[in-house]
Amino acid sequence: MYSRDLCPNSGAKRIVERLELLADSAGGRKDGVNRYSFTHTYAAGMKMVQSWMEEAGLTVEVDGIGNMIGTFPGLDMELPPVRCGSHLDSVPCAGMFDGILGVISAIECAQSWKDSAYSPKRRLEVISFIEEEGSVFGAGCLGARYMAGTKMMQNPEAVKNGDKSLRDVLSSWDMTRETPYSPGRGSAHAYLEMHIEQGPQLWRNKKSVGVVKGIVGILKQDIKILGESNHAGTTPMADRRDALVRAAELIGWIDSQARASGGNLRTTVGDVTVQPGARNVIAREAVIHMEARSGELETLQRFSKEVVSRAAAYGPPGEHDAFYNLDQPIMMNERLVRMLTDFAAESALPFEQLWSWAGHDAKIMAEYCPTAMIFVPSAGGYSHSTLEDTEVGTIGDGLMLLEKALKTLCSEE
Ligand SMILES: [Zn+2]
Repeated sequence: MYSRDLCPNSGAKRIVERLELLADSAGGRKDGVNRYSFTHTYAAGMKMVQSWMEEAGLTVEVDGIGNMIGTFPGLDMELPPVRCGSHLDSVPCAGMFDGILGVISAIECAQSWKDSAYSPKRRLEVISFIEEEGSVFGAGCLGARYMAGTKMMQNPEAVKNGDKSLRDVLSSWDMTRETPYSPGRGSAHAYLEMHIEQGPQLWRNKKSVGVVKGIVGILKQDIKILGESNHAGTTPMADRRDALVRAAELIGWIDSQARASGGNLRTTVGDVTVQPGARNVIAREAVIHMEARSGELETLQRFSKEVVSRAAAYGPPGEHDAFYNLDQPIMMNERLVRMLTDFAAESALPFEQLWSWAGHDAKIMAEYCPTAMIFVPSAGGYSHSTLEDTEVGTIGDGLMLLEKALKTLCSEE
């Protein structure tokens, strides 16, 4: 790994310079990036990205939700394209790499093709996805869902933020006002996405790139524990049925199960609702809002049942699954994973295969075309934070791998 000034990869240096310009246009690197979809700041970011796309020889269009698509022409325009990109929107007070690194890197690949007068057989579509983080509408990956033409995106009235629908937002936003809303963009030969890892694995293991095996599934479940309200002072300790104390025991147990899992289960209880919720009243009800992630569907299904049966000891049955949602793990395309792995090995890059523990546009794309992801390390494992950082040298390694894979995929029959 090398410092930015010594980095021999001019493409990687230009990527970092562009990420800095984008960050400075949306809140800055020090205070954090705030680039929410469907805002003026977002439109300003799109215009910057558009100018770089055009510089790289891409023809730019904006679809009906605000995804920006830059097309590098192929010799046979009848063949389905290869797509590559990530998202431009951010969480509040974000770092400057999350998402947009994948868009700017894809543009850099096109730029190098233009500079070397290379003409691929298939066209390359560089995609800047909108609303991946769900900061505006809660549900993530709206742009990718729109491109894939998923069921959820068929009715823009039904996608809501309070009393505002996606239809309302789009009709008052300059960037899409002229474009008809029509989800689905036809098939693709493949989709590749380069992204920061957002966790510490590659950084700790001193790897410069990661090949993603799959994106973990997410279980969201509410578990309700019942107790009995009574006076905080007059009720002897032995007579209490305190719902919150029981919930606390269960939370400890949930955490211990993930720690004992050998690394294939991660659990979080980030929120608990307590009734009646007063310091001087013993809690009569506590609802644990639990999330669990794993690459193995069976692990999540089994864990969900174990939590319910553990919770049953604390109250009447039937109260422990008030809310349940299981979003399945998605494997990356086997052939593409092998290709990326072989290329990384051939180029002697320090790399490893790993799970993505965060969701990405690639999770949606994987359901409708062969999809793979390249990770680059997040220094210290920080993301969704102004501490987010990735060394320019590792961006250069990721870029080399991405460009090689795109070139290969674009030359396939
Ligand atoms: Zn992201």
